[in-house]
Amino acid sequence: MVTGGAGFIGSHLTRRLLDAGHEVLVVDNFYSGTRSNIEDLHGHPRFELLRHDVTFPLYVEVDEIYHLACPASPVFYQRDPVQTTKTCVHGSINVLGLAKRTGAKVLLASTSEVYGDPAVHPQEESYWGNVNPIGIRSCYDEGKRCAETLFFDYHRQHGLRIKVARIFNTYGPYMAPDDGRVVSNFVVQALTGKALTIYGDGSQTRSFCYVDDLVDGLVRLMDSADDVTGPINLGNPGEFTMLELAERVTELVGGGEFRREPLPPDDPVRRQPDISQARDVLGWEPKVALAEGLDRTVQYFRGRLDVP
Ligand code: NAD
Ligand code: UDP
Ligand code: UDP
Repeated sequence: MVTGGAGFIGSHLTRRLLDAGHEVLVVDNFYSGTRSNIEDLHGHPRFELLRHDVTFPLYVEVDEIYHLACPASPVFYQRDPVQTTKTCVHGSINVLGLAKRTGAKVLLASTSEVYGDPAVHPQEESYWGNVNPIGIRSCYDEGKRCAETLFFDYHRQHGLRIKVARIFNTYGPYMAPDDGRVVSNFVVQALTGKALTIYGDGSQTRSFCYVDDLVDGLVRLMDSADDVTGPINLGNPGEFTMLELAERVTELVGGGEFRREPLPPDDPVRRQPDISQARDVLGWEPKVALAEGLDRTVQYFRGRLDVP
């Protein structure tokens, strides 16, 4: 079962699992994902789609759960912040209850946002983070922190087999063009001849992981030994300022006009994963460099937006 399987990462993961021979049940309420992301899978003999909001109970028989359901872009998760917290907390309780009843292994797509605006750099899993509990990002940050708490308490209290992945900024084909995240924004803006919107002075950093690499890490984590619970960072350590990213995109696509916009409150100043654990425990590290991943992403959006 893949909750959030109609979203950006979930649609890639679903294809990967089908290719590996699994039966896949996608559960999604289309809050930030779309049917079109998985349109090509309809009719596949091992694929099933259920429209369902994970904040409500769900009774199905499964043996592995990838729990990805949750809007991930600030624009989407801040549009209905109460629903975001409910999705993180009630959604995780229902998925954990389902795993408890069925004995399924369950993986949480957590996030580097649990580190907040980090005082430790790069971020390693032992760092507890620096999160504002009452800001506009809190519905997501604290929601995911509580989801992690629930996963570890179901593990300790009920012996559930859990896996917690802390995912760092991931990008690639099937991001929604209006998703609001920086890579999709810059690529869509450049392709449609608009100025690239730089929030603040553009000196804040992020580390961008291509989606194929990330999915590979999620599958390795799910397949790891039962004593590997995480939390484990999955991301690409290559760190870039938003100005550098904007320059990379315009080198690929053309254009080059930038427009400054205010920096949103609580926007983390820097972010870079320490992936020593993923290397040691999962034998995983990203392979796709930013230039190559951006190129593939640009190709995808060219087709999707029908621009030359
Ligand atoms: P996305 O918004 O494209 O996908 C999320 C999917 O979950 C969507 O299809 C959405 O409709 C679905 N969903 C949301 N609320 C739901 C609910 N209540 N019930 C059922 N379905 C629901 O985002 P994504 O980038 O694919 O992220 C997937 C997961 O990975 C999320 O949990 C996110 O927090 C996590 N993550 C992503 C990134 C990233 O950079 N992409 C980074 C860190 C963590
Ligand atoms: N739940 C679910 N599917 C199941 C089993 C449980 O959605 O197959 C939900 C159920 O509604 C409950 C939640 O998961 O509210 C937590 O289940 P758990 O067994 O941990 O708690 P309890 O039922 O004892 O409150
Ligand atoms: N950002 C930007 N222009 C945009 C969208 C985002 O400069 O059009 C910045 C944003 O302020 C943040 C970084 O890019 O510093 C990454 O933003 P995103 O929403 O992609 O991810 P997150 O902040 O959740 O890591």
